[in-house]
Amino acid sequence: MAPPHVLVVEDEPEIADLIRLNVEKIGFQVDVLHAGEPAVEFVRSKQPDLVLLDLMLPDIDGLEVCRRIKWEPATRETPIIMVTARGEESDIVTGLEMGAVDYITKPFSPRVLAARIRNVLRRHGDGDPLESSDNIIDRGLIQVHLDRHEVLVDGLPVELTLTEFQILVYLCERPGFVRTRDQIISTVHGELAILSKRTIDVHITALRRKMGDAGRCIETVRGVGYRFEDRFGVEAS
Ligand code: CA
Repeated sequence: MAPPHVLVVEDEPEIADLIRLNVEKIGFQVDVLHAGEPAVEFVRSKQPDLVLLDLMLPDIDGLEVCRRIKWEPATRETPIIMVTARGEESDIVTGLEMGAVDYITKPFSPRVLAARIRNVLRRHGDGDPLESSDNIIDRGLIQVHLDRHEVLVDGLPVELTLTEFQILVYLCERPGFVRTRDQIISTVHGELAILSKRTIDVHITALRRKMGDAGRCIETVRGVGYRFEDRFGVEAS
């Protein structure tokens, strides 16, 4: 089987080289482009398995690249990991809501880069995000029984409201991936109450409290949203 093909879009040569080196080291095939327009064209014609996308590019910016890739049916499924600088939280939120699957903040360690790429390639495109059968999401300490609407922490049932339950399901379906508040709002609509960004925070607080120690699995990603991390942040950047 051919190794996964990764497109790196990065205009700073040193960073591009660094990323190439590290992605090749984990056995993937890498192409590098230094601008946005050619990147859109490349994704269309070569269909790489993953795009690592810098947001600040000399021609069109990374968000526009993301928008074009996600807008076109033929390229929509291509996973995009944004490569961002500190302080670009609002762009990260926009990118995630446009369909980028994850992001990584510069400077990053090779280990974090490799983990993020593997996480995306492992979990992307398998259609059903649930890893186990029988309608159970098993995250070690936390088990979610979807059909019974039941959550067990360390084997003991935890009583959640429908909204809390849906938020937990949405986050723990894809561990390691950040969800923005707006993404959570648009997915969780089991109750008639109107959700706002502020009420999401309130629900998360209640959810954590009810889950006790296991509530640490739900991490706040400052300025961006929330992430379920079943290894308590081992791979967090
Ligand atoms: Ca740049």
